[in-house]
Amino acid sequence: MEKLETLIQELYQEGTREKNMEVLSHIRKLAKEEKQFIIPVGDANGEKVYRRLSLDDGQDVFVAFTTQAQVDLGQTTETLNQSVMDVLHMVHDTQGVSGVVLNPWKDSYFLPKVLIEMILDNKNLESEIKVVKGDITTFDGDCIVNAANESLLGGGGVDGAIHRAAGPMLLEECKLLNGCHTGQAKITKVYDLKVKYVIHTVGPIYSGQHEDEHMLRDCYWNSLTLARKNDIHTIAFPAISTGVYGYPIDKAAVVAVDTVKEFIREHPGKIELVRFVLFSADVLAAYEKVIGERTIL
Ligand code: ADP
Repeated sequence: MEKLETLIQELYQEGTREKNMEVLSHIRKLAKEEKQFIIPVGDANGEKVYRRLSLDDGQDVFVAFTTQAQVDLGQTTETLNQSVMDVLHMVHDTQGVSGVVLNPWKDSYFLPKVLIEMILDNKNLESEIKVVKGDITTFDGDCIVNAANESLLGGGGVDGAIHRAAGPMLLEECKLLNGCHTGQAKITKVYDLKVKYVIHTVGPIYSGQHEDEHMLRDCYWNSLTLARKNDIHTIAFPAISTGVYGYPIDKAAVVAVDTVKEFIREHPGKIELVRFVLFSADVLAAYEKVIGERTIL
């Protein structure tokens, strides 16, 4: 619950959509983990009822606290512990109530019914991870990732395809970047491509050493970090390092899927879609197998 309070405080400071999504995702997590809110109750005709607050605009809302310390900031009241999930359902199902105010006395957070619906539906809160067979240059989201080499001056495989589709100006911009170390990522414009950005990352040349995995992981992690910084919501990855760099496809698929999944879990809200666009049937099959075996989020 302290984490929720911290997130709400951060929301006060930052006020971003992204932070709000983090708060919502966290509430959903608390609901799934069967955590409890503290609910103030009162007596009405001998029955225990949840206390409500009437807002200035005439709307009634329920109240819930994350900790006893938050309860103690206000007037003394009888309370009950109630599971987060039950509170969400109760608020959602009660007519004449527009939502629930968490911690009304300090750093309060109003959760209206529409957002409760989002939490209960799981909609829009979870990023989608998809795999498709295809040519990444035709992706029409915000960004494609290029499996480049350290020079960033173009090459074969997916790198060549992206440069061909973007046109010669992409190479001109890449020349100004002074290359890129393995595992790192750099962003450029797209010229003739449909997306808004290309993120160039350099996968490891497979050697069979432990470092390969770390560096491949860095490629996905650093690309997604750069995506977040640039307000990218939808992004497509090729199977980095699985071409001329020789990374075994099954192993690369595990690193790709696990890293993306972990990134999304740690940074909910911002990235809406990660699509792995895979050029051949064997790579597609390897990714589908990994995705099937691992529950997303
Ligand atoms: P690397 O040097 O990182 O191994 P490659 O370009 O040789 O990069 O291969 C990476 C993966 O990209 C391979 O699985 C290859 O089949 C795939 N690939 C090649 N062209 C495309 C394309 N146009 N779209 C998506 N994937 C592609």
